[in-house]
Formats: sequence, structure tokens, C-alpha cells
Amino acid sequence: MTATLIDGKAIAENLRARIGASVAALRAEHGDTPGLAVVLVGDNPASQVYVRSKARQTAEAGMRSIEHKLPAETTQEELLALVARLNADPQVDGILVQLPLPAQIDADRVIEAIDPAKDVDGFHPINAGRLATGTGGLVPCTPLGCVTLLKSVRPDLAGLEAVVVGRSNIVGKPMALLLIAESCTVTVAHSRTRDLAAVCRRADILVAAVGRPEMVKADWIKPGAIVIDVGINRVAAPELGEGKTRLVGDVDTKGAMATAGAITPVPGGVGPMTIACLLANTLTAACARRGWAAPA
Ligand code: NDP
Repeated sequence: MTATLIDGKAIAENLRARIGASVAALRAEHGDTPGLAVVLVGDNPASQVYVRSKARQTAEAGMRSIEHKLPAETTQEELLALVARLNADPQVDGILVQLPLPAQIDADRVIEAIDPAKDVDGFHPINAGRLATGTGGLVPCTPLGCVTLLKSVRPDLAGLEAVVVGRSNIVGKPMALLLIAESCTVTVAHSRTRDLAAVCRRADILVAAVGRPEMVKADWIKPGAIVIDVGINRVAAPELGEGKTRLVGDVDTKGAMATAGAITPVPGGVGPMTIACLLANTLTAACARRGWAAPA
């Protein structure tokens, strides 16, 4: 058996096109478009790449992209003052502060300062609480994208045994909550889990969000399982030339292809969905704030 590759790139493209069409319809109706403010502090190269592609894709979807680039020595007070200005700006529907932040800034305080109605990352405790209680709110983009990928191969997830490896606030925990909402039976594993391989082998749905290159082996996977590989790890690739690197996930994809029913590749699986879901959240936030009818 060879697993179906879940084409996150194509699914994300399709989602972005639908968002673009909705934005065009809203602009025609209301003469205005959603705005997303992205704040980058410092010069972390990976963050610069993410922020550039977020800005480009926001503009491509017909939305307003507002970039704020602050120097690495920015103080917490300066960043909080900018967040306050963005909260008060009626043209800004979504605010994203790119993580990680420099050491002098407390990321939790910054996240808590963002208006929950504009918190398109879904990290504010109000939105986390809404997800936990099933009362709406904005949902973190990466797990939201993972659910769309799962449903592309299995529209009804009810009753399935799901194992999420990782319990971070941005991926593992919200992923588990979304799967509970889909009526899966959910186990959350982490660094203290005993016999992780045996736990994973129970999973009809296995989500790996660990940050350890190819940790999940082929014999950890139940035959036919759907495997969502969230991990993005850069590893040395001497086969490509001296000093070269490549990206791998948390799953040994090659090995897993023989056992899994479907699997997301890295790159080209979960990654592209994250930004597409950020655009979806910006549209959702704009409609809710402005009282626009949300597109179907
Ligand atoms: P964190 O480091 O915050 O969390 C990692 C989790 O993995 C923790 O809960 C940790 O357990 C667990 N873990 C670590 N080692 C083991 C182990 N040996 N066995 C079992 N569990 C273990 O990472 P994130 O959640 O932020 O990200 C996870 C991965 O996903 C990273 O590779 C990241 O780059 C990627 N990512 C990808 C995104 C995308 O768009 N595709 C977006 C966000 C993240 P414990 O809590 O016990 O320490």
C-alpha cells in the first residue's frame, strides 16, 4: 500500500482563491476591504521570510496588508503602545505579532494586549477559552489548517481515535480541542508520555507537532492511518552539496508512506495551510467586527 499524499499546497491555493473571491464581493458591496497588520520585531531571518509571505498573500487576496517593522531593541512598552494603536484603528481587522519576540519582551503580555476580536492568530486567552468551551472565537491557524487537510481525505472524523503528539498552546492543545469538537477520541502525548510508539499505533489520526526531525517511525503508524506532519525541521543535507540543508517533518515520511492511508508531505503539507487560514481568520474577524454578512 502507498499512502495518498495530501496536497496542502493545492488545498491552500484553493482556499486562498475562495477568500479572494469573497473579499472582492465584500469590496463591491461595502466599498472597503479587510486589513491585516503584521508586526515584526528584530531581524530573525525565518520570521522575515514568514512576514514577507504573509504580506504578499494578504495583498494577493485583495486585503490591505499593513507591516510594522521594529528594531530588535524595541521595548515592551513601545510594542504595547503599537498594539494599542492597532486595536483602536478601525481599518485594522487583524493583528499578528510575529513570534518569537526578543528576550526583553514578554510575549504573553503582548498577546494579552491584542483585542481578542482582532487576534487572528487565536492565541489570546479569551480565544483559547472560547475554543475550549466551544463558544466560537478565532482559532489558531496551524491546527485549523490541519482539520481542513484531514477533512480533505475523510470528511467525517466522528468516532476516530486521534493521537496528537505535542501539547504547545499554538499547535498541540488547540489541535486536540478541534479534534474533540469533531467527535474524535483524543489522546495528547508529550515528552513525558510512556511508550509513545504504542500510543501512536492506536491512532486512526496521528498529528505530529514536536519539532524533532523524523521522530515518528513507520512502525508507529497504524495501517491506513491519516498522518498530519506539522513539524518543520531544517537538517544538514550533504547529499545536496557541502553546507546544504533541507526541510523534514517530525515523521519519517518515506517509511510512513508504506503504512499510512494518507500523509502530509514536508514541505507542501501543513505549512501552506497556515497562512491561508490566517487570511481566513482575517476575513472572519473583519465580517464580525464590521457587521458584514460572512461569506458562505
Ligand atoms: P513546542 O516546542 O512548543 O512544543 C513541542 C511539543 O513536543 C511539546 O509539547 C513537547 O513536550 C513535545 N515533545 C518534545 N520532545 C518530545 C518527545 N521526544 N516525545 C514526545 N513529545 C515530545 O513546538 P510547537 O508546537 O511550536 O511546534 C512543533 C513543530 O511544529 C515544530 O517543528 C514547529 O516548527 C512546527 N510548526 C509548524 C507550523 C506550520 O505552519 N507548519 C506552525 C507552528 C509550528 P513537553 O510539553 O513535554 O515539553
